[in-house]
Amino acid sequence: MSTYDVVILGGGPGGYNAAIRAGQLGLKAACVEGRSTLGGTCLNVGCMPSKALLHASELYDAAMGAEFANLGIEVKPTLNLAQMMKQKDESVTGLTKGIEFLFRKNKVDWIKGWGHIDGPGKVTVTDSQGGKTELIAKDIIIATGSEPTPLPGVEIDNKRILDSTGALSLAEVPKHLVVIGAGVIGLELGSVWRRLGAQVTVVEFLDRICPGVDAEAGKTLQRSLSKQGINFKLSSKVTRAVASDAGVQLSVEPAAGGAAEVLEADYVLVSIGRRPYTQGLGLENVGLSTDKRGMLANKGHRTEAAGVWVIGDVTSGPMLAHKAEDEAMACVEQIVGKAGEVNYDLIPNVIYTKPELASVGKTEEQLKAEGRAYKVGKFPFTANSRAKINHETEGFAKVLADERTDEVLGVHLVGPSVSEMIGEYCVAMEFSASAEDIALTCHPHPTRSEALRQAAMNVEGMATQM
Ligand code: FAD
Ligand code: NAD
Repeated sequence: MSTYDVVILGGGPGGYNAAIRAGQLGLKAACVEGRSTLGGTCLNVGCMPSKALLHASELYDAAMGAEFANLGIEVKPTLNLAQMMKQKDESVTGLTKGIEFLFRKNKVDWIKGWGHIDGPGKVTVTDSQGGKTELIAKDIIIATGSEPTPLPGVEIDNKRILDSTGALSLAEVPKHLVVIGAGVIGLELGSVWRRLGAQVTVVEFLDRICPGVDAEAGKTLQRSLSKQGINFKLSSKVTRAVASDAGVQLSVEPAAGGAAEVLEADYVLVSIGRRPYTQGLGLENVGLSTDKRGMLANKGHRTEAAGVWVIGDVTSGPMLAHKAEDEAMACVEQIVGKAGEVNYDLIPNVIYTKPELASVGKTEEQLKAEGRAYKVGKFPFTANSRAKINHETEGFAKVLADERTDEVLGVHLVGPSVSEMIGEYCVAMEFSASAEDIALTCHPHPTRSEALRQAAMNVEGMATQM
């Protein structure tokens, strides 16, 4: 039996950041992870492998299509899918080993196996050989993450009917990939396979893609993706899937009901959301239970059980790696009596398609619903010199500012490399910046970031470059 200050269940961005921070603060910390590698969904089957394939497929597509030829680079690329997957897997291994290094550096013990809470302060870990380790902890942090939400009638077998993990490691390019759900996974992985040569159809229940993102930004992204050849079937639902060795027949109906049509696909990706994962955790042994959606509630990262904390995808809030990481830091700081806090109003959101979509703060729809008076400053990338010279002019920067105080309330970017630029506004908004503060801040030329400044200037109609 080993005794710890804190035992963390789950080694994803929530769990591993909590463990590292605990080590830094001098706590004796153990992180229990059942997978054979650390890093959770994010490093193993989420953020990182998807970005590896997005990067590689974007370059392939640029070389294959008119983009390279237009730049005067004439090549005839051939796809080596096995190598593309291999380099992705090698990068993932490098990253997961990096977490092992950080654990050693910060004196965190990785206890390999699946953790079960036996009672207050008590955890049993069962390893892959069935061996058991008992742990005693002053505090337990639950960071067990999430899993794909299943769709009744469309059973995931990861042969023909895939979840995101299956769609990240296909051995061939689909002829026709049907994606169910036009959310972030559907658009990112749909883009990967479209660029590598698949016909892609996205079936979405709602009448728009990416519910929750600013509607104008979502529409702009949909237009771009449609131009790239992704076919959208909005306001539609899949009611049945019949898989065979060769492919899948899908029955698709209008969301409001009506005649069904049959779609033939060789692969189907089910990406209709993720749900919290607490299977086999023994929550009942500390008097905890989950809500209807399987979610474990928290108040300032505390559960209702004394000494049991919860962070990341398994609890409320957006299911994002950086949100899990922020909660990890705040939770551990609270355990040692510091004032850790997460600002849930300023968690950025990025869709890594081409163009990318990045946003932080309120959407126009939210501000209207709140009855808050706001001003809009917009600037298109067609008027940004760096974007023009690079032939990457799709999209815009949009800044929403309070009508009276000029405080920036929301920022919505669609365009090249906007994932790297949204951080500027996250910092500004943490400091309650006004649009004028950004408008008066010198930005380097020529960069795409000038579009962000011009949008802020345009809140008062003062953009100088359009
Ligand atoms: P997880 O990363 O899910 O980690 C939980 C870990 O706990 C898992 O490794 C699991 O094995 C382990 N575990 C569960 N139960 C037990 C137990 N009883 N004992 C021991 N171990 C246990 N987010 C972004 O911010 N940006 C992105 O670009 C992005 N891309 C994504 C792409 C895909 C395809 C997917 C699926 C997700 C993506 N996400 C992205 C979401 C991101 O991966 C999650 O929000 C993040 O991983 C959540 O971190 P977590 O620590 O809460 O949980
Ligand atoms: P999502 O919530 O982003 O999108 C799911 C989509 O499926 C929605 O548009 C929804 O309306 C639709 N839908 C739901 N039921 C449906 C049905 N029966 N038929 C057709 N459409 C249906 O979920 P996701 O794309 O599966 O991603 C899961 C989570 O992973 C997200 O919450 C996201 O936070 C995280 N993630 C983030 C990133 C990123 O940050 N770049 C990338 C991938 C995943």
